[in-house]
Amino acid sequence: MIPVKGYAAQSPETDLAPWDFQRREVGPHDVQFDILYCGVCHSDLHQIKNDWFPGIFPMVPGHEIVGKVKKVGDHVKGFKVGDLAATGCLVDSCRECENCKKGLEQYCLVGNVQTYNSLGKDGKPTYGGYSNTIVVHEDFVLHISDKLSLPAVAPLLCAGITTYSPLRHWKVGKGHKLAVLGLGGLGHMGVKFGVAFGAEVTVLSSSPSKQADAKKLGAHKFVAMSDPEQVKGVKGYFDFILDTVSAPHDMGLYLSLLKTDGIHICVGVPAEPISVPSFGILGGRKSVAGSGIGGLPETQEMLDYCAANNIVSDIELIDIKDIQKSYERMLKGDVRYRFVIDMATL
Ligand code: NAP
Ligand code: ZN
Ligand code: ZN
Repeated sequence: MIPVKGYAAQSPETDLAPWDFQRREVGPHDVQFDILYCGVCHSDLHQIKNDWFPGIFPMVPGHEIVGKVKKVGDHVKGFKVGDLAATGCLVDSCRECENCKKGLEQYCLVGNVQTYNSLGKDGKPTYGGYSNTIVVHEDFVLHISDKLSLPAVAPLLCAGITTYSPLRHWKVGKGHKLAVLGLGGLGHMGVKFGVAFGAEVTVLSSSPSKQADAKKLGAHKFVAMSDPEQVKGVKGYFDFILDTVSAPHDMGLYLSLLKTDGIHICVGVPAEPISVPSFGILGGRKSVAGSGIGGLPETQEMLDYCAANNIVSDIELIDIKDIQKSYERMLKGDVRYRFVIDMATL
């Protein structure tokens, strides 16, 4: 077994603290890479707090992982020692079901294995990227470009693919009016991709102080949701709303901002189920849809697209000792726009 240093929550009530654990030896198809940076996703906090379902503890969060290959198994063809490597939210799936065969491992019909807070095929808990090294089957390891800033690439592995995938699926682009609801980790990537794909992008935010940043990120418009006059100006205006909000919010209000046949795409996952008023969707034949992360081929496509178009995340690099403070700021919507842990501080 490989000894690993990490940071774990021992229970939903305790702060994260140093914790030593072990990973499996490198198998014939495995890649071991040393973790240099790991992004901090709001899903980490939801899962530590048991917001969605009872978690597996101790929990080592982190699914925006980038680093350098340390060792490869005998049968590994795609990676060699010293290469850059990355892993997102998934580390395994059945590979045989209809969805896996289409490269939609995130929707594996048998059930995929998530990078942490999940049970591997060996029945043992998985541990994530708030740690110094990881062992992953090569099929779930991604290639990243050495031309981009490495810490700023880390958030692409979740915030990036989670926004790229629905925008591609619904072919959002030229001629579309896209609203990005919530300017945090996911939201700011949604803005960058929406702009890159040619849509007119508006940020809908509960934080008026983010207006200047929204513009810098490329957004064409900004609506402070606390100002009724600004909200009135975008009634029936959008083709798509990309909803990244992590807390309960008024779906009726947002549905009223869609055009006829508009689509409200949920990627945020509040702890409570969302409540959709029937009149909000039947008047104007509107849809409420959802999208979960992305499969391996599309995640690689997104990483290559980012390398070709010089797209990375806007980050605040943090010491792992400051993780609790960062969670507190994230809960207040005070993140510009993704915290990334410098693993050298572990
Ligand atoms: P984040 O950085 O905290 O951003 C969320 C943003 O939502 C905040 O910055 C804030 O933006 C807005 N917000 C927060 N509370 C709000 C409230 N009460 N009312 C209105 N707006 C509010 O979080 P994230 O990492 O981007 O994740 C966002 C959500 O997506 C989380 O629930 C996360 O679990 C989920 N997620 C889903 C997937 C998936 O596969 N679908 C993948 C990753 C994450 P403003 O200040 O601009 O209002
Ligand atoms: Zn995430
Ligand atoms: Zn499958």
